[in-house]
Amino acid sequence: MNLFNQALLRLKPALEHISVSDELLEVLRTPERVVQFAIRVKMDDGKVRVFDAFRVVHSTLLGPAKGGIRFHPNVDEAETKSLAFWMTIKCAVAGLPYGGGKGGVRVNTKQLSHAELERLSRGYVREIWPFLGEDKDIPAPDMYTNPKIMGWMVDEFCKITGRHEKGVFTGKPLSMGGSLGREEATGRGGFYVLQTIQKFLGLPKTGARIGVQGFGNVGASFALIAANEGHKIVALSDSTTAIYREEGFDVQAVMLYKAKNGVLKGVELRNGELVEVQHQIISHEELLTMDLDFLVPAALENSITKDIAEKVQAKVIVELANGPVTPEADQVLGEKKVVVIPDVLANSGGVTVSYLEWVQNRTGYYWSEKEVHEKLREKMVHATESVWNFAKDHNCSLRTAAYAVALSKLERAFYEQK
Ligand code: NAD
Repeated sequence: MNLFNQALLRLKPALEHISVSDELLEVLRTPERVVQFAIRVKMDDGKVRVFDAFRVVHSTLLGPAKGGIRFHPNVDEAETKSLAFWMTIKCAVAGLPYGGGKGGVRVNTKQLSHAELERLSRGYVREIWPFLGEDKDIPAPDMYTNPKIMGWMVDEFCKITGRHEKGVFTGKPLSMGGSLGREEATGRGGFYVLQTIQKFLGLPKTGARIGVQGFGNVGASFALIAANEGHKIVALSDSTTAIYREEGFDVQAVMLYKAKNGVLKGVELRNGELVEVQHQIISHEELLTMDLDFLVPAALENSITKDIAEKVQAKVIVELANGPVTPEADQVLGEKKVVVIPDVLANSGGVTVSYLEWVQNRTGYYWSEKEVHEKLREKMVHATESVWNFAKDHNCSLRTAAYAVALSKLERAFYEQK
């Protein structure tokens, strides 16, 4: 079964709790627009190379399409369609006035020079710009794309159209209309979701023992915020190492060490110096299966398989990565009564601050970082409450509830537009 059909299967459990029309399901099974195109790039050696590229609009039932552009060797049509479908669900759960979209280029960016990457990014916009717009389809960064690339893309778009339409891309650098608080938004949003669920579960507000898989943008931001709010980050990992310290890590110091040396190490800041503290090197599997209050996968998809799920001891899993728990593992975790906070809710902080960036661009009025955090918190708490209440009323998992909440919003909009 291809990836897109697999993604659609996630709707099935929700349909046991709400009824939606067959017409809506047919609409969701068929992306509104799938564009495949070729980008010609003149390489530094003077030769021309051609890269396959995609832009999918899955649904615009709730508003213009929103979703990142991924630069990766595995990008293809089915993957882009399934990621666009997830954006439709995520934006609906988060209560954003957006539909779902996604784009990508099949490329290994590690093989490109800086100048080739810029030409590829601008080339993407030159081929697809008539389909983009603040009210049509609004891209953002995804894997191996970043604010710098968004800056090139928005600049190319504005040059072609002759309009200052900065809100057509989000995740831009601050100097080009980006929002304060965007970089840490996914981690921060995930923390607000967790805080809300903690309250519902009657768990203490501080002192939880947390393990975080993945120490990149999302995992490190989440770990820092959680530690600053009084929790203990007892385990951390990246692609090469996993470390454990029962007293909890000084996350800020570990971030500084990793930025300087490229590896994870248990360190503390003493008189401005990074000093090693006692800690253990553990295996990646040990991190996922140790006794924790919260396990936070923030790295890859499918990292919690059925075998791992059988050994998981954490009470709550917060899916900051996209799709970190396989469907088989999900079933095992459900039977073990592990609470799984699904990706379509837990990691929607990024797209929520993208929405705030778009609002600021369109009004020309920019908020302080504190205001952005407060608006993000409000949106995340509201989304979490609606998913929690549905799950409680229908005695189902939070994942099933999130899909059901999204489907009912889509059904309402579909009915009104029919
Ligand atoms: P990133 O590239 O900044 O960080 C990924 C981290 O995962 C790195 O530290 C890497 O070393 C680590 N990693 C890779 N393989 C690992 C392994 N086998 N075990 C442990 N760690 C491993 O990426 P990111 O932006 O932090 O994204 C992480 C996840 O969050 C992805 O699934 C992404 O799709 C999802 N996500 C990101 C955002 C966002 O705003 N950046 C929004 C929504 C979802």
